Amino acid sequence: MAAAHPAPAGTGQTIAGALRAAAAALAKAAVPEARRDARVLLEAALAAGPEVTVGDPGRPLGATDAARFRGFIERRRRREPVARIRGRREFWSLPFIVTPAVLDPRPESETVVAAALRHVADRGPRSAILDLGTGSGCLMLALLHELPTAKGLGLDISPAAVIVARRNAEALGLARRAAFVVGSWGEAIAGRFDIVVANPPYIARPAMAGLAPEVVCYDPAIALDGGADGLMAYRALAGCLPRLIRGGGFAVVELGCGQEGAVADLFAQAGLAAVEAVPDLAGHCRVLVLRAGSNQKKIGNRLIPD
Ligand code: GLN
Repeated sequence: MAAAHPAPAGTGQTIAGALRAAAAALAKAAVPEARRDARVLLEAALAAGPEVTVGDPGRPLGATDAARFRGFIERRRRREPVARIRGRREFWSLPFIVTPAVLDPRPESETVVAAALRHVADRGPRSAILDLGTGSGCLMLALLHELPTAKGLGLDISPAAVIVARRNAEALGLARRAAFVVGSWGEAIAGRFDIVVANPPYIARPAMAGLAPEVVCYDPAIALDGGADGLMAYRALAGCLPRLIRGGGFAVVELGCGQEGAVADLFAQAGLAAVEAVPDLAGHCRVLVLRAGSNQKKIGNRLIPD
């Protein structure tokens, strides 16, 4: 009989019922924050907001919406991050497109943006910005958004990442001031910049397998893997940053937990002093601000040499 009739428009399920079932399925798969994720994914599936998921719990769920929601919940059960399922992540209060080609922007990386803005204040806004390992473009595009006369160059070794960064620049209305190139760290870059930012891969290879499935299975390995000791990218950066920073300019680099002493030493050997070490909201030293020249800063229990 069923085959002789068109598919029913409804599923017999309400918004509240679908949310309950999805939250239970996620909890059973040990997904943390199961209820919150279920709600965010239902809103994404319906292209609606809390006025529906919270405000209209008795509304029937259509078959197409229900199928899309089931697909999203199945992906989350396999630990794909919510931002990747939605294809969108908010960073610095701006919407970024996220695809499998790029690292999912993290809230702790906003510490890089905040530190750069603090240090640029005394130089006026007409800055040239370089973002090494730009990924989604989130660091540079957040800075361009805040500094309306600045220009930026974003570099990534992954052509697919550069395409995503360009799409983000266009979607955010920043494309006129943003250029992107494919290359390895500073190799392809000539010229000097007022602000250099980088969130390089910094996970020590032996620690990769211990990362959360959301990270190790979905972030590109090339954006995470910092080599045997996690410091490989900082060695490359120490080799090129001194010639890329304009007189009076600075660099802001993100760090993994506990790397501040070793990374500050590497840059000090290249003639760059860590003038500020900035903790993230969890209290981990997340960012070093580096300048050529003489300022000294005690990082951990080491004094960075001149
Ligand atoms: N912050 C990411 C994490 O720890 C790592 C990103 C990176 O290596 N730069 O999950």
